[in-house]
Amino acid sequence: MSEHYDVIVIGGGPAGYPAAIRAGQNGLKVACIDGWKNYDGSAAFGGTCLNAGCIPSKILLESSELYHRAHAEFATHGIRTGEVSIDIAKMQQRKSGIVKTMTGGINGLLKAAGVTALQGRGTLHPGRKVEFVAHDGARKTLTATHVILASGSVPTPLRSAPFDGKHIVDSWGALEFDAVPKRLGVIGAGVIGLELGSVWRRLGAEVVVLEALPEFLSIADQQLAKEALKHFKKQGLDIRLGAKVTAAEVAGKAVDVTYVDAGGAAQSLKVDKLIVCIGRRPYTEGLLAEGTGVVIDARGYVDVDDHCHTAAENVWAVGDCVRGAMLAHKGKEEGVAVADRIAGRHAHVNYDVIPSVIYTAPEIAWVGRTEEQLKAQGIAYKTGTFPFMASGRARAMEAAQGFAKLLVGRDDDRILGVHLIGPMAGELIAEAVLALEYGASAEDLQHTMHAHPTLSEALHEAALAADKRAIDMPNR
Ligand code: FAD
Ligand code: NAD
Repeated sequence: MSEHYDVIVIGGGPAGYPAAIRAGQNGLKVACIDGWKNYDGSAAFGGTCLNAGCIPSKILLESSELYHRAHAEFATHGIRTGEVSIDIAKMQQRKSGIVKTMTGGINGLLKAAGVTALQGRGTLHPGRKVEFVAHDGARKTLTATHVILASGSVPTPLRSAPFDGKHIVDSWGALEFDAVPKRLGVIGAGVIGLELGSVWRRLGAEVVVLEALPEFLSIADQQLAKEALKHFKKQGLDIRLGAKVTAAEVAGKAVDVTYVDAGGAAQSLKVDKLIVCIGRRPYTEGLLAEGTGVVIDARGYVDVDDHCHTAAENVWAVGDCVRGAMLAHKGKEEGVAVADRIAGRHAHVNYDVIPSVIYTAPEIAWVGRTEEQLKAQGIAYKTGTFPFMASGRARAMEAAQGFAKLLVGRDDDRILGVHLIGPMAGELIAEAVLALEYGASAEDLQHTMHAHPTLSEALHEAALAADKRAIDMPNR
């Protein structure tokens, strides 16, 4: 007889494992199946985020930023050091250690929530039967009242620059370099290109970023994007916009890249490593047998309604494998919401209030609508901007770059968008997320006391500036 569960989750990334934990907390009998395998063959929960995405990239961003500050900034603080050098092996060891601790922690969390953790592949069959094949090849059939699909995403390949795993790599490969490449090429000036380009630039690589679109960071507020581009260029990231890659070929120990530049001229570039990061696509290989009733849409996503329910009864899907932002926190909220819905509880994901963060220096973060979107939607708005240059805390940190910008409805004073570029923007955005979630007005933020001296005062002052009542800078 097959094992029966109330809920089976397929995928143990940041969308799947929280769904399993919440379902367990809700008193349901749950199994979570995850097929992740690391380069060394070890299995680990946590999916892309913990093993090859959010966490390892942030670890290397932290290490590389410290290195950069040690050799470029300590002297400004009056700190003398001997020669500062890097030990990439040690840096990578630290990264792997943290990742291992955190992925191991998920096993503990699943256990504490009473979830049966199964490592191997899961395939959904009609009637919510799930075929499980463990990593050692052992098979069993499980059945469930509800199934949650959380199979995630994989890097989008580029036909003109095929991955060879050594010289032409995806973001995971670029997190595993064992030496600093002298010349690094990056295709795609998106979130990954900027974060990983920054890591290896800070560690000493000459970095050229080829971006197909003529505008930089087209998803962001363009005032923010313009400011960001200025800083990245100053840091030595050679960002070439409007560049269409025509070919990339490994030649000996290097890669020859050819592309057509914004002016239509053919160009070439020789690099030691090439990262292709032009987006990610949903991953559903081997996930569904024939006849499940689950629909895959034209772009490869599992088709779901507003509540993450698929076309098949009691089959749900969450995270990167469904429409919407490919972000860990979006997947987590969806997973938890579905687990609550299954238990008959109220659940809601506010897709209008998803924070975006790019963990570069300066950091970039935003929530809500951009100025371009408000213009396109014909919404009357006012703007409040405050530069970190005028923040005592930012000055103390030697990080007085960028600004906080608020977009506020002209008619109702409601905060519509918050855009930050500056120190710890990724942390500061949480206040803006709460403000938007609660439907706060600029006046609400103006009347909220902010500790001095903190970076958060920039948000307070930006809210005051929206009504030309800023204190710590002249109002224009
Ligand atoms: P995944 O994390 O991809 O997990 C899916 C899991 O399901 C995997 O373990 C996979 O092996 C497993 N699986 C798939 N099919 C099956 C099957 N049939 N049977 C069993 N198991 C299966 N997002 C942020 O919010 N912040 C960041 O800072 C950030 N940084 C990133 C940095 C990089 C370099 C990358 C690549 C991504 C980053 N992301 C970041 C994006 C984030 O990693 C993803 O949005 C997130 O991991 C999606 O979660 P998920 O659970 O939907 O999918
Ligand atoms: P992305 O969508 O952020 O950026 C891809 C970039 O590549 C875009 O600027 C696009 O115009 C460009 N591009 C597309 N095709 C191209 C081509 N042929 N030649 C040159 N440029 C091309 O995708 P990504 O950076 O690969 O990241 C993938 C996903 O992972 C994103 O959805 C992102 O949300 C997520 N992620 C998030 C974080 C974070 O939250 N800090 C960090 C890393 C990744």
